[in-house]
Amino acid sequence: MEFLFEKQLRCVAKEPTLSRFSTLEDDEVSLPIMTDFQTEALRAMVTRVYKHNSFYRQKMTQAGLKPEDIKSLADLAKLPFTTKDELRGKPWILLAADKKDISLISVSTGTTGGEEIYIMQTWKDHFINEFSAGAKPLVNIGAGDICINALPYEMSSAGLSFHKVFMDICAATVVPVGKGGAYSTPEKTVNIMRDLQPTVMISTPSYAITLAEAAAQLNFDLTSLPLKIIWLTGEGCSPAFRDRVEKIWGTKGNFFYGSLEAGVLGIECDAHAGYHIPMGQVILEIIDPETGEVLEPGEIGEVVATPLLRFESPLIRYRTQDLGYIDPDPCSCGAYLPRFFMRGRLVDHITVNEINFSPFYLEEFLMRLPEVGNWYQFVVQPGHNDQLKIRTELAPGVEPTSELAEKLASRMEFAIGIPCEFEFVTKLPRPSSKTVRVVHE
Ligand SMILES: [Zn+2]
Repeated sequence: MEFLFEKQLRCVAKEPTLSRFSTLEDDEVSLPIMTDFQTEALRAMVTRVYKHNSFYRQKMTQAGLKPEDIKSLADLAKLPFTTKDELRGKPWILLAADKKDISLISVSTGTTGGEEIYIMQTWKDHFINEFSAGAKPLVNIGAGDICINALPYEMSSAGLSFHKVFMDICAATVVPVGKGGAYSTPEKTVNIMRDLQPTVMISTPSYAITLAEAAAQLNFDLTSLPLKIIWLTGEGCSPAFRDRVEKIWGTKGNFFYGSLEAGVLGIECDAHAGYHIPMGQVILEIIDPETGEVLEPGEIGEVVATPLLRFESPLIRYRTQDLGYIDPDPCSCGAYLPRFFMRGRLVDHITVNEINFSPFYLEEFLMRLPEVGNWYQFVVQPGHNDQLKIRTELAPGVEPTSELAEKLASRMEFAIGIPCEFEFVTKLPRPSSKTVRVVHE
């Protein structure tokens, strides 16, 4: 009798994944080979969706397109976009396979509001997800590494995706501690780290602070751990906030950029100079959010992602609502993969004095103020949009005085050019889901 596993692995062999496309070793794959692979994968994807998915067949028909019209990567721009709103509340819309073949269903975490978005994975797509060539040296995790996975495991794909990559692809040891689930408390995670002496941790930036606070309560020195890296993901943060995380944990923190809907989109190298785009897994485009036109390298616009290894729940030209630009110039780390620089999210921007600000831009200056603690909120009040209100905890030992509030307000105003007002609080609620940095009151 054949094992299901073997059967499934054989059926994976049909689609163009990089390891079959090129017999070269990872470090021999170059940009031109990668571009050829992307072209072939895109064509295979478009053919597949046209045949097996009515949502995309309809879109292509409306745009007057047949699969054979997509010959090169430049032709990608002819294809219609996919938006979050099109996917909301429609679980099966992306499916290009039988329902019975679905092995995993993840659900959006709903930070942008609205009905749920469902992303399906079949066994085939699960196994096809190899590590992108060129990305392995960036991740640099292997057998012998003990990885504390402090991302949420429920609903979303966050915890499970890293679990799979680090365990199945990197052959490392993974400890699924989760993030505040039924069995998971920060204190317990700190105890587990003390016992297992991990070399890698995966966390959101804010949960790394929550864990550090638990460690302080337990009198455990996090810098005594043999950690070589913290992978940060799930939320963005400013360089100044990252500096704080690195200092508290005594190790480097690099970012993974991805989303439930589109998977991995960027991996940061040690140079901390943008995210390398894993070209074996995804095509990234930057478009003008108003006109939909594809922008040139260096121009800031909305990130549009086309995953290349999701044949059975394909996503074509997905508008992420994230903002940034692509830099094709070589990176000091030596990786050839082009880089993406994040510039915030369309939905998160704060308007003060009729100027748009990314919260990370504002956070950068806030986190440079040593008196300010690690938990804060930007408060948006209707009718009071001529100044920025900042509600914050203070660093340990700092006294909340009105002189300090004035001093910090004038330093922030000097940095960002708009009037600021500070409100000090003893303790802001610690989030159990994604951290909320912008509150509307
Ligand atoms: Zn680099």
